[in-house]
Amino acid sequence: MTATTLSIDLNAIVANWRALDALSAATVETSAVVKADGYGLGAGPVAAALAKAGARSFFVALAEEGVAVRKAVGNAPAIYVFSGLVQNDALLMRDYNLIPLLNSAKQLVKLRMQAPDLAYGVQIDTGMSRLGMELSEFIMVRDKIAKADLIISHLACADEPDHAQNAQQLHNFNAMTRGVSIRRSLSATGGILLGADYHFDLVRPGIGLYGAAPFKDATPVINISIPVIQTRKIAAGQTVGYAALWTAKRPSKIATLAAGYADGLIRAMGDGGLMVWAGNTPCPIVGRVSMDLITVDITDLDRVPDHMEIINAHQGVDHVAKAAGTIGYEILTSLGARYKRDYRGG
Ligand SMILES: *Cc1c(COP(=O)(O)O)cnc(C)c1O
Repeated sequence: MTATTLSIDLNAIVANWRALDALSAATVETSAVVKADGYGLGAGPVAAALAKAGARSFFVALAEEGVAVRKAVGNAPAIYVFSGLVQNDALLMRDYNLIPLLNSAKQLVKLRMQAPDLAYGVQIDTGMSRLGMELSEFIMVRDKIAKADLIISHLACADEPDHAQNAQQLHNFNAMTRGVSIRRSLSATGGILLGADYHFDLVRPGIGLYGAAPFKDATPVINISIPVIQTRKIAAGQTVGYAALWTAKRPSKIATLAAGYADGLIRAMGDGGLMVWAGNTPCPIVGRVSMDLITVDITDLDRVPDHMEIINAHQGVDHVAKAAGTIGYEILTSLGARYKRDYRGG
């Protein structure tokens, strides 16, 4: 029996990075966001493949994630940390040459006291009310940050191109940074698609690299293949799984597959009309998704397959996410540690 396998196509990630890079002018740097272990797909292999392809800057959420990326990409690329200087990270930042994005005047003071020679950037809040210095605070520090390497802000609604807040945040970002001669960055994947006004000096795609919305032209990156571990025949009227939620309308053949919600195949997938594929043939998930098992109606197949696929070329991450009432970001980062990971290309 082959293991439950998550295949990750590093060449597809590189192709997505190049395709996103091609959407901005040659003078705009395209970085790569590899926080949360590269959106669940492995920050080390992903960052190494992108560095090899020419990416010069990476972004992570936490200093520890930056350490893992540094080990994968060597000394040359810049690694920025969104959370800034929290707890006692200054020494770790210095040892691994990480660049905190300072989120408050307090973090700037901390930097001066703990690691005055450390390179840093600044994050400002232009309307998302989440992370970064607000206008009043930024005005206080604006002439004390001449050595900053980058100023960033983040859009709250970039995946909705018509949302009025995009233009509002763009206006605020321009107003707050006017006359400041530090490199600027506003856009993640969604912002790149909003057009050149949003690109500034550096763009920060994450989700688009990993093949999901809002980057509709993305090359698919992952495939999930699950072994069939048992089959049974049931009579019409018999039920399948927890809470006896699904009842066979005809004599049926049920396959039991070795993956479940502990592998990020969340329970809502059982209610979303999703298919599991035997080659090119779709078969419906029936009954509740359990922690380690999924049950599938294979009555219409001629023979029992060794394994079936829940994410593949027929049914991508966005489709699965929508059927389960969530977004691709959450599906990818929930996949968990039990898969055999099969990296291709890179
Ligand atoms: C996660 C994140 C990104 C990348 O966003 P995507 O929508 O995945 O492209 C960029 N900037 C910041 C501040 C982030 O938190």
